[in-house]
Amino acid sequence: MQLLWFKRDLRLHDHAPLAAAAAAGRVLPVYVHEPELLTTTDHDPRHAAFVEECLQELRVALAERGAPLLEPHGVLPDVFEALCEQLPITAIYAHEECGNGTSYARDRRVRAWARRRGLAMHEFQGSGVVRRLASRDGWHEQWLQHVRAPRAATPLRITGATADELSRVPQQFVAPRNASTPPMHVPGMVERQTGGRTHAERLLGSFLQERGEHYRVAMSSPSEAIDACSRLSPHLTWGTLSVREAYQAARGRAAQLRDELKGLGRTASNLSQRETLARWQQSLVSFASRIEWRDHFIQKLESEPALEYRSYAPIFDNVWSLEPDAERLDAWREGRTGYPLVDACMRSVHATGWLTFRMRAMVMSFASHYLWLHWRPAGLVLARAFTDYEPGIHWMQCQMQAGVTGINTIRIYNPIKQAAEHDAAGDFVRRWVPELSALPTADLLRPWDAPPLMQQMHGMHIGRDYPRPIVPHEASYTHARDTLHTLKQAAQQQGVSRRVWQQHGSRKTPFNASTR
Ligand SMILES: Cc1cc2nc3c(=O)[nH]c(=O)nc-3n(C[C@H](O)[C@H](O)[C@H](O)COP(=O)(O)OP(=O)(O)OC[C@H]3O[C@@H](n4cnc5c(N)ncnc54)[C@H](O)[C@@H]3O)c2cc1C
Repeated sequence: MQLLWFKRDLRLHDHAPLAAAAAAGRVLPVYVHEPELLTTTDHDPRHAAFVEECLQELRVALAERGAPLLEPHGVLPDVFEALCEQLPITAIYAHEECGNGTSYARDRRVRAWARRRGLAMHEFQGSGVVRRLASRDGWHEQWLQHVRAPRAATPLRITGATADELSRVPQQFVAPRNASTPPMHVPGMVERQTGGRTHAERLLGSFLQERGEHYRVAMSSPSEAIDACSRLSPHLTWGTLSVREAYQAARGRAAQLRDELKGLGRTASNLSQRETLARWQQSLVSFASRIEWRDHFIQKLESEPALEYRSYAPIFDNVWSLEPDAERLDAWREGRTGYPLVDACMRSVHATGWLTFRMRAMVMSFASHYLWLHWRPAGLVLARAFTDYEPGIHWMQCQMQAGVTGINTIRIYNPIKQAAEHDAAGDFVRRWVPELSALPTADLLRPWDAPPLMQQMHGMHIGRDYPRPIVPHEASYTHARDTLHTLKQAAQQQGVSRRVWQQHGSRKTPFNASTR
């Protein structure tokens, strides 16, 4: 009997370990609720709620195919040992996972235990991320090979354990079959994405057929991006959808658009149709490249797991304290910095679990550069806030936005300029910072400059109803820019940047050009 270990791959489709285990014989599907993963500093109940919704669908789908899901609670490998004592398990099938430090240590324990027990352990590549990658050269080609390969077949029937065998398993390991529980409530969240394969398929379909046309231009607006972006991130994180499925669906849609465009011909009367199709095509190109970025970032953590905790270029770790200024961290987390767009983003992400890329980059830059907080404690706040928390993307992005990689351009996001460009009408700020909603749009950018009479007219007072800026804008910007550029130069002189580029650089630009 093959133990099929579900982790962050909560689907039956394009699931190579499941297909292989089913082809090899009887399958025992297992998802372990691990207390150690539920108590890490990067965990939040919103993650558990999303997972529970995914499991609800998975339970039903597996039971319908003949192999109910077992859901023990406990520490690994002890739980597997308990199962092996009761059942004739001969091998474990699973995806390779690139998670956080706790799941990394857990995987090593399970592998060592399986070796000692003489149990075969078959781990399958689950995305374009390559285990034991020898060199970054040629990674893009390997990635394409993975995402273009045929999808693993979804078994229609799975031969599971017999009733007699299952009766030997502790009864609390056998999950209740329950598909009708409504979306779960998470305290503090007003709207959240729901887990489960059905939602993943719906989002993929609606993005590729209806919502995605303006993706490329709307993705940076905090209000428009909510619909214009795919919103697939939590599904890719928890594996209700594979990267390959997303990529191939986008490719299929691109081919359909090409045919439509050819069929139209070039006449003046169909100009607007051609423009629409061209917009769709551009959006799909942007989407496909982001799907690749996903694996590109996760590959970095896979290749160097310590990057979850320390900067690529360690020289940067000395300028920030890992013990952050609690007052600043709290103000940032709670959306009380006095910078309206930053505050709107932070309040919104706690309430919804999602922010578009540009706003994530801006709040991270604000924490690092204006508030001078180390990326690690600030990143933990965001890890808990994002439903899609994916350690490989997250920590690499936190470092990149903080400017500590030694190879990327240092970008300090100006929150006033970002608001002017991406929330010009102030809709997003008004929604999430209602105490400012009465102010004229022009004053939303710098409410502290709104004339006192104007404030009075609108029944509010900056400094009482909404904070004054927690740090001065220009001085904070200049301090961050000068300090980071000096450190980056030092990293280059010490050869650190070259090492980082060799191990992790995307190869889109040669070393010198990428380190401007
Ligand atoms: C500080 C910071 C932290 C982040 N943390 C996470 C995280 O924990 N989990 C996460 O999935 N994404 C993270 N991102 C990347 C990005 O912001 C999200 O993937 C994206 O906003 C998710 O929305 P979407 O699914 O609608 O994306 P879309 O724009 O529709 O993109 C499709 C998919 O491509 C991938 N993707 C998109 N943008 C990026 C990017 N810049 N880098 C890597 N992959 C990308 C994601 O898997 C995403 O689901 C982070 C970005 C920053 C700046």
